[in-house]
Amino acid sequence: MQKDASPHGFRPGFQHFATQAIHEGQEPEQWSSRAVVPPISLGFEYSRSGNPTRNCLEKAVAALDGAKYSMAFASGLAATVTISHLLKAGDQIICMDDVYGGTNRYFREVASKIGLKISFVDCSKSKLLEAAITPATKLVWIETPTNPKLKIIDIEACAQAVHKHGDIILVVDNTFMSAYFQRPLALGADICMHSATKYMNGHSDVVMGLVSVNSESLHNKLRFLQNSLGAVPSPLDCFLCNRGLKTLQVRMEKHFKNGMAVAQFLESNPWVEKVIYPGLPSHPQHELAKRQCTGCTGMISFYIKGTLQHAETFLKNLKLFTLAESLGGFESLAELPAIMTHASVPKNERDILGISDTLIRLSVGLEDEKDLLEDLDQALKAAHSPSGSHN
Ligand SMILES: *Cc1c(COP(=O)(O)O)cnc(C)c1O
Repeated sequence: MQKDASPHGFRPGFQHFATQAIHEGQEPEQWSSRAVVPPISLGFEYSRSGNPTRNCLEKAVAALDGAKYSMAFASGLAATVTISHLLKAGDQIICMDDVYGGTNRYFREVASKIGLKISFVDCSKSKLLEAAITPATKLVWIETPTNPKLKIIDIEACAQAVHKHGDIILVVDNTFMSAYFQRPLALGADICMHSATKYMNGHSDVVMGLVSVNSESLHNKLRFLQNSLGAVPSPLDCFLCNRGLKTLQVRMEKHFKNGMAVAQFLESNPWVEKVIYPGLPSHPQHELAKRQCTGCTGMISFYIKGTLQHAETFLKNLKLFTLAESLGGFESLAELPAIMTHASVPKNERDILGISDTLIRLSVGLEDEKDLLEDLDQALKAAHSPSGSHN
């Protein structure tokens, strides 16, 4: 169900989103105190297998993901590990070649040691994805948009390719979009996963993972694993994330507004080589983004003109943007993937992916647009001033 069209030609947003974020699972009648704000409850009998504050959060998330069921985990990676336990030794996972570093490391260095076979494939090409599927393939893992190149993967095309070959689970890591801008389950995915550490909680004060599904049998299996593996979040973290969801819509709309303003500013700046933002018509998959998503976030990557020294001087001169690796919070962050988030990716692979020394990634926060643009402007000028300290 959809409401009016979004700005910039994106597909219409999801109906009742803000109402569900505020009311779903939050009924005061469930508490003897009739509390309007869900309390931090320390438990029923044993909180690993179920907790009242976690239940509130899980119900709200299910509604926002357009799902029947949702489950919360101690981190995004804990959610990933739990999903992987749906498989058994000898089964194959096909993982997109350009995923979050921690996902890549878990599959390559941990899951592979307990008998899972991992293949990394460029899943943006359905033919390559289909060619990699074997009778042992049980799970396909994609992430869209990718990080930091913000390449968009066609979820519907992936789902068609994967499901043609039988009972294979398609997982979409939806961290970069949040439930507000993208609903993978409606596009054919079997599992929607978030690192709630980022946009879903949005306040950079919680580490959490969320998993939503529509299939009852997948839900039963994952519920069993949630309790059996025990990687559950604390009641305080559930309380905080549940609170964060109340403002998800207003936060995401402001991230989009600020993100678009920053992207347009950078695109017209003489010291910028190239901007990558799915909301700009210059993005190679702008049309796919508009078809698949209801908008864009504050994640922007751009190449600064010059060398590593120019990039470093730019970052050193930023006053409002903080130099840091995380993303998706209310505060604006900037980082240099080649020497920070993606330093562990070998140089030749970084070159193939286009992660050069001048590629800068921004997580545009919720500050005043004018202040953000002024900060970027002065830092770009400083990076290219003849007296600029390039040391
Ligand atoms: C941060 C992140 C994760 C991992 O989540 P944690 O909560 O840090 O464990 C997974 N996927 C993406 C895309 C991320 O950005």
